[in-house]
Amino acid sequence: MSDLEDKLSTVIGDRTVKVLTDVFGIRSIGDLMRHYPRRYMVRGELTDIAALNEGDEVTILAEVHSSANRPIRGRRGSILEVIVTDGNQKLSLTFFNQAWREKELKVGTQGLFAGKVGVFKGKKQLAHPDYQMIADGADVDDATKSFAGKYLPVYAATAKMPSWKIAQCVEMAIDSLDELSDFLPDEIRASHNYPTLQQALVQLHKPADLDHADLARERLTFDEAFLLQLMLVMRRNELRKLNTKSRKPITGGVLEAFDASLPFELTGGQLAVIAEIESDLAQSHPMHRLLQGEVGSGKTIIALRAMLAVVDSGGQAALLAPTEVLAAQHLRTFEKLLGSLALGGTLGSSEKSTRITLITGSQNAAARKESLALAANGDAGIIVGTPALLGEKVEFNDLGLIVVDEQHRFGVEQRDALKVKAQKPPHLLVMTATPIPRTVAMTVFGDLDVSTLRELPLGRQPISTHVIPVLEKPAFLERAGERIREEVSLGHQAYVVAPRIEAGTDTASDIDFLFGEDSADITSVKVLAPELASGPLKGLRVAELHGRQSSEEKDATMRAFAAGEIDVLVSTTVIEVGVDVANATVMVIMDADRFGVSQLHQLRGRVGRGTSPGLCLLVTNSPVETPARIRLDAVARTLDGFELSRIDLEQRREGDVLGANQSGTQSHLRLLRVLRDEALIETARNDAESIISTSEDLTSYPALSAEVARMARNAAIDYLDKG
Ligand code: ADP
Ligand code: MG
Repeated sequence: MSDLEDKLSTVIGDRTVKVLTDVFGIRSIGDLMRHYPRRYMVRGELTDIAALNEGDEVTILAEVHSSANRPIRGRRGSILEVIVTDGNQKLSLTFFNQAWREKELKVGTQGLFAGKVGVFKGKKQLAHPDYQMIADGADVDDATKSFAGKYLPVYAATAKMPSWKIAQCVEMAIDSLDELSDFLPDEIRASHNYPTLQQALVQLHKPADLDHADLARERLTFDEAFLLQLMLVMRRNELRKLNTKSRKPITGGVLEAFDASLPFELTGGQLAVIAEIESDLAQSHPMHRLLQGEVGSGKTIIALRAMLAVVDSGGQAALLAPTEVLAAQHLRTFEKLLGSLALGGTLGSSEKSTRITLITGSQNAAARKESLALAANGDAGIIVGTPALLGEKVEFNDLGLIVVDEQHRFGVEQRDALKVKAQKPPHLLVMTATPIPRTVAMTVFGDLDVSTLRELPLGRQPISTHVIPVLEKPAFLERAGERIREEVSLGHQAYVVAPRIEAGTDTASDIDFLFGEDSADITSVKVLAPELASGPLKGLRVAELHGRQSSEEKDATMRAFAAGEIDVLVSTTVIEVGVDVANATVMVIMDADRFGVSQLHQLRGRVGRGTSPGLCLLVTNSPVETPARIRLDAVARTLDGFELSRIDLEQRREGDVLGANQSGTQSHLRLLRVLRDEALIETARNDAESIISTSEDLTSYPALSAEVARMARNAAIDYLDKG
């Protein structure tokens, strides 16, 4: 008798095991049991042949209608043609020199046939299909024999390992299984009326009926959510036990002086988050907090206040930004907001002050040397940087806080790479303007506490967004040019965004990757900017911005734009995140269908940041009712980032959501889908919290503890694989 951990070769022949291992990575009995069926075929319910498409790899259930063996004209050998039917349509199966198969493929019997759908002389066919004839109605009730049950599992399969072969292996594995111990605590299982682990596995592969299969699937899906939440709750609790320096603001410090000089009132939402962060920082275990807030909701100032609190306590704070443009902007914003408070150690500094420095990959050697020294000797209280901050040479004197801006651009590895630069575990604040549904946050960032900022600062005007379909209404494009001129004549500024830097094949963004295509007539900055400057925007000050420019050039352009010396910035998505120029009121996005939903929402967040209303025009060639167009219409319809990220998530594959760089656990989530299974995840979270509250390290639940450990171990392996 065997266990899930046992090698599969203890019950199945080595040659078959080798194929299962090579193709699916299946090694143990448990691996095979967790190769779940994709769906079931019902005996007697034949597959609709009309629905098969040429080129599809299919497994179908059909009845043999007739067969004929004939010699091949002008050659030796024979062709056996077997016609199968679903009761309406027919499909021909052809075999070369295998007349003997006629005996197996008896007229009137049913079988499973697998192969690639081809078309010959206008008729659909399967050439040399694999097949498995199934017993007739007589033993339908004898569910113990292969293919004798009413429901036939259909597995992910290949030519070498057809679905029914897998079913037979599963059958042998099930027969060999001892009574399995169930890691799910009885009280949890009972509260949901779930089957035991063994029952669930058996019922999923060989269901008595579809209700049983559904319940089995739910139990196994719940297992995934529950184990993941247990792991995350335990990880969070471990973090709470770590010891670090508490960072309390002091009276008469930089923070106090800064607050006194703030040019605006903080919103209620900002104050609430600030209170949460201050209380976190005052603890002697590290803060681990995610701040998600709408585009333009004012996260930067919250981060800056947290950094100043740490500076007041004698420590340093590092801010990690995804792009140079954004890092440089943060530096400028901080310098502006802090004024003389940022001139520490120089003439003109106020008594309480600090220094800010910038570390990026493209700095010149002298600048870099200076900022490295300021970070290492502790003179710089605030260090702003791109991922260059993670470099080996970068050292800190006393790193107390890490702020990660636009978290969705980073993986866990990166934030961890920064953590090791601190003497004691640093406090961590990660910020994102891509708000995600609660369950996704719980699944992906389950070890972070979450603060949410939904409110925009007072006086902020809404952004109105319109789709401009070039195909339908060419005059609209002209109108977009006019709108820009109008805004500029009112003293405002504009962005025009294009997907590419240059015409042709450069990959200005990951768009080609996303859409798996490459199209030469996609708008590019280098073609569009001169066209606009000499055409519809003649007389306006137009400048280009893109990732191929040097950082000095980009920085100079952004400064000039921020200072109002440029009217129209023609740019790639380098301005996607974080860029903050309040006087910009209109944005035209060319070939908007090339961007994802969240990306468009981020982009348009660059306008309407001041007190004048913002306008965003999405220019597209996509015809109505195409998926691209539906996406654009959704962006135009709502400003709610949560709703948009939901649309975005629904359109993306689940794997992207739970990418290894986020959770490191995707291969353990076979059944769980974060959006579809929201309610289940919520329940699993509560169950996990309640189990942990009765037994903090799961000592009272040894089987469960072992299962969580196994998951964590495998997650770590995935993690290393990716590295
Ligand atoms: P995001 O949350 O997208 O990062 P920012 O922090 O860049 O947004 O803030 C957007 C703009 O709003 C900035 O110019 C910032 O100075 C301004 N701002 C932030 N908080 C307030 C407030 N309470 N009142 C008015 N303006 C604010
Ligand atoms: Mg920001």
